[in-house]
Amino acid sequence: MTMAVPQAQELIAPAHWRTVDFLSDLHLQAAEPETLALFQRYLAHSPADALFLLGDLFEVWVGDDACDEPGSFEAALAQVLAAAARQRPVYFLHGNRDFLVGAAFFRRTGVAGLADPALLDFHGQRLLLSHGDLLCLDDVDYQRFRVLARSSAWQQQFLAQPLAVRRTQARGIRAESEARKQSGAAYADVHGPAALAWLQAARAHTLIHGHTHRPAEHTLAPGYRRVVLSDWDAAAAPPRADVLRLTPAGLERIAIALM
Ligand code: MN
Repeated sequence: MTMAVPQAQELIAPAHWRTVDFLSDLHLQAAEPETLALFQRYLAHSPADALFLLGDLFEVWVGDDACDEPGSFEAALAQVLAAAARQRPVYFLHGNRDFLVGAAFFRRTGVAGLADPALLDFHGQRLLLSHGDLLCLDDVDYQRFRVLARSSAWQQQFLAQPLAVRRTQARGIRAESEARKQSGAAYADVHGPAALAWLQAARAHTLIHGHTHRPAEHTLAPGYRRVVLSDWDAAAAPPRADVLRLTPAGLERIAIALM
């Protein structure tokens, strides 16, 4: 399977940014309060001048109107994000679980939406940012679903349903994907040549992405690398939660669970 190289949205870091944090795949959900608590602790203590949330911040997102439901988990999450965005710029790009985060959420929280991929120029270091799902080309079924689910026709139809119906449908889709995982089906990884093509088109040498939950650094070609974020699970033993921290000296992986 081949694909056109998407045009990256470019963002130039203001001169005063010294520290930028990247994180993804927190999969925040009501059933895992420990991970939300760790995220809130992290938000209170991070020295970052800007945060980049690279998708699957939420386990599932069935529409921004879920934030309007009094007492909903989404309403609480929106408050957490709004507080974070008052402290420093917070950017978000969509994952495959939270691709329905929309304009109303961004208005409500002050979080800024980014295209996938996005290019950050940080004092001359050019980093390409993506969730990573679009690069898992070998998962043909998923790529087909992705095209459908990102179409405005599909989204309008889905969002027109009552919130309770959407919540039920999302649970069904998740149960299906869990069953597939349990069946031992191999999970597609990022396609190396496609990732390299994205980097070269963006004149960048480092790709940062999540999605695969396989934290590592891979050399794609001499001088080109992809750096993979971890997922977060504060209740796991040992707890999993790290961020990639960028300073003028380079990238460093920080274990948040030890904070
Ligand atoms: Mn994902």
